[in-house]
Amino acid sequence: MPRIVIVGGGFAGVWSAAAAARVRGPADLRITLISPNERMVLRPRMYEPEPERATVPLSRILEPIGVEHVRAAVEEIDVAARLVRAGGHVAGYDRLVLAAGSRLVRPDLPGAEELYDVDTLDGANRLAAHLRGRESVTSVVVGAGFTGLEVTGELARRGRVVLVERAGVVGPDLGEAPRPAIEAALDELGVERRLGTTLVSAAGGVAELSDGTRVTADAIVWTAGLEASPLTAQIPAPRDRLGRLAVDRHLRVRGAVFAAGDVAAARADAGHYAVQSCQHATPMGKTAGPNAAADLLGLPLIDFTPAPYVTDLALGAAGALYTRGWDRVVARTGAEGMEIKRWIMNRIHPPVDDAEQILALAGKVYNPVPF
Ligand SMILES: Cc1cc2nc3c(=O)[nH]c(=O)nc-3n(C[C@H](O)[C@H](O)[C@H](O)COP(=O)(O)OP(=O)(O)OC[C@H]3O[C@@H](n4cnc5c(N)ncnc54)[C@H](O)[C@@H]3O)c2cc1C
Repeated sequence: MPRIVIVGGGFAGVWSAAAAARVRGPADLRITLISPNERMVLRPRMYEPEPERATVPLSRILEPIGVEHVRAAVEEIDVAARLVRAGGHVAGYDRLVLAAGSRLVRPDLPGAEELYDVDTLDGANRLAAHLRGRESVTSVVVGAGFTGLEVTGELARRGRVVLVERAGVVGPDLGEAPRPAIEAALDELGVERRLGTTLVSAAGGVAELSDGTRVTADAIVWTAGLEASPLTAQIPAPRDRLGRLAVDRHLRVRGAVFAAGDVAAARADAGHYAVQSCQHATPMGKTAGPNAAADLLGLPLIDFTPAPYVTDLALGAAGALYTRGWDRVVARTGAEGMEIKRWIMNRIHPPVDDAEQILALAGKVYNPVPF
C-alpha cells in the first residue's frame, strides 16, 4: 500500500495528516505522522502562565481519522532511498511532508544555560514553574519581536520588565504602522526599554547588557531569533535565510517531498512570502497533505491560498493589538483587540474525537479571520 509520511505534529503536520486523510477517502493509502510528543503543542499560547493547557492529545485527532502516530524524532531523511529514520524506526515513504517546525536560536554567552524561553512546552513549563507563587518579579526579556512583546506583556503583570532589543526600535520586523500603539502599550505597562542593546551575559541571574547596565533578574527570557528545523538541511534544495525550503505553489520541494509550516518558504501572494506563524502553517498543512495524497492517487493538486494576513499581539493588561494587511495597520487595540485574540486562540485548537468535524475543517484552506 502506498504511504505518506508526515514529519511533525504541530499545526502544519496535524493539518497535513487530516487533509490527506480527507482526500484519501476509501482508497488504500497509509498515512503516518512521526513526532516525538504525545500532544500537539499550541506554541502561540506558550507565553501564558499555564502552558500545559495549550496542548491537545494527538491521539484524539489522529485516531478518529485513521492516521497512525509514531512517537519518535526523525534523525535522518534519505531522499534517494525515500525513507526516514527515527529512534530505531525506519519508515519508507512514497510521499513525504516535512512539517518539523522551527526552533529558537539560543545564544552563546556566559550563563546561556540559565536563560528561560517560551519556545517549547518544556521551556514554557520551566518558566511558569519558576515564577509560580512569586511576587514582584523582575524580568529581563531579550528580543522585542512578536514573541518577546507577548512575553513582556504577560510578565509586566508580575512586576518590573526590562525589554532589550538589538535594533533601535521595538517590533523591528512588525513595521512602522503598529509601532506607536506598541510604544503606548509598553508605556502603559511601565516596561523599561533598552534599544540598540543586547545581552552579553546572563551568569548568576544578572543580565549584563552591551550598554554596561546590569540588572539582577528573577528571570532572563531569551526570545530572539528563530530558525527552521535542521532536518531541512537534509533535503537537497534551496533554503532561505531562515533555513526554510523553497516550495512551489503546491508546496512541493522536489519529487516526492512536500514541506509545510515553519520549514517552508511559500509565496502567500504575488508580493509576499508566508511568515512563520500558525496562521500560515495551518493552511500550508491543508495544502501539502492533500497534494501528497492527490499526487499518489492521480488527482489534481491544489494551490496554497492563505486568507488575508492579520496579526494580533497580546500585551498583557494593555489588551491586544489587532492589525490587518502586510503593513500591519492597527484595526483594534486594548480590550477589543484582546477579544479577537481570545477568539483566535480558541480557533487554533483543532476539533477532537469527531472525524466528520476534523475532516470538514481540513478541507477549509482559505479560512479568513472575520474581523
Ligand atoms: C510564544 C509564541 C507565540 C506565537 N504567537 C503566534 C501568533 O500569535 N500567531 C501565529 O500565527 N503564530 C504565532 N507563533 C508562531 C507559531 O507558533 C508557529 O509558526 C507554528 O507553531 C508553526 O507551526 P509548525 O507546525 O510549522 O511547527 P510547530 O508548531 O513548531 O510544530 C513542529 C512539530 O514538529 C515536531 N518535530 C520537530 N523536530 C522533529 C523531528 N526531528 N522529528 C519529528 N518531529 C519533529 C515537533 O515536536 C512539533 O510537533 C508563536 C510562536 C511562539 C513560540
